[in-house]
Amino acid sequence: MSAMTRASCLCGAVTWTLAGPVPAMFHCHCTRCRKAHGTAFATYVSAPAQSVALEGTGDVTCWRPPQGGDNRCFCRRCGSVVPYSVEDTVFAPAGNFDDDPGVRPRWHMFVRSRAPWYEIRDGLPRFETYPPGRAAAPVVDRPSLDPPGRPRGSCLCGAVAFIVEGEPVRCRYCHCGRCRKALSAAHATNMTTALDGVRFTRGEDMLARYQVPEARFFATVFCSGCGSPMPRRHPDHRFSVVPLGSLDDDPGARSTGHIFVASKAPWFDIADDLPQQPAYSPGE
Ligand SMILES: [Zn+2]
Ligand SMILES: [Zn+2]
Ligand SMILES: [Zn+2]
Repeated sequence: MSAMTRASCLCGAVTWTLAGPVPAMFHCHCTRCRKAHGTAFATYVSAPAQSVALEGTGDVTCWRPPQGGDNRCFCRRCGSVVPYSVEDTVFAPAGNFDDDPGVRPRWHMFVRSRAPWYEIRDGLPRFETYPPGRAAAPVVDRPSLDPPGRPRGSCLCGAVAFIVEGEPVRCRYCHCGRCRKALSAAHATNMTTALDGVRFTRGEDMLARYQVPEARFFATVFCSGCGSPMPRRHPDHRFSVVPLGSLDDDPGARSTGHIFVASKAPWFDIADDLPQQPAYSPGE
């Protein structure tokens, strides 16, 4: 275990270090985490505020929920989630670590809010909301909508909304280092659909895009108001990618496998028995 754990956002503008042993790591399935990270669940470590040193704060934007609850902070250049504090505790997203923090996830919380398209397969303790004895501000769940037609999606702050009009083509978990940093999570859960299969119904002008300079294809699109990952078009590949955590309705599709498992986070174990590809695979 290293005494100093380094982390950074996808574009590198915001960096932070955690000094000393990291006390706790956990998965959260609440709707706010799912939207802020655009995937099945978020994984955070909590640590005393004085053990975290954040640099590049000029690029940090925080969204303050009008209904109350924790602020959500992100890099305004690339959309990565960055640590936020609640009183004297800092919550840092595990997906951004450059080093192995030495701790492993210890529980799942807010499983009552779990995505309908995600099944928890590991043996960690599960809590309906917070673990017993952890006092915290209540999280306001968004009511899940009864799908009358095509699945709808929206960002955390609600400024951006869309409908997936195209059929789901493929749905997989991606463990590549860029997805992990872009979403600040253990892995992405992405669905592909036709290039013009996503229609924005509001807030399209709020979308920000970050293109990784050295990558041929990798880009991320997020709401500039809250940082939530949003669908993006890939004209080169002739499809659009929908980060499933942004959906309000069940798309019906389920993940059929894992890709880029050679880049998997050291602190995350795959507990299901879906096929695993070491890198990209165009097929199932
Ligand atoms: Zn950044
Ligand atoms: Zn959460
Ligand atoms: Zn937003």
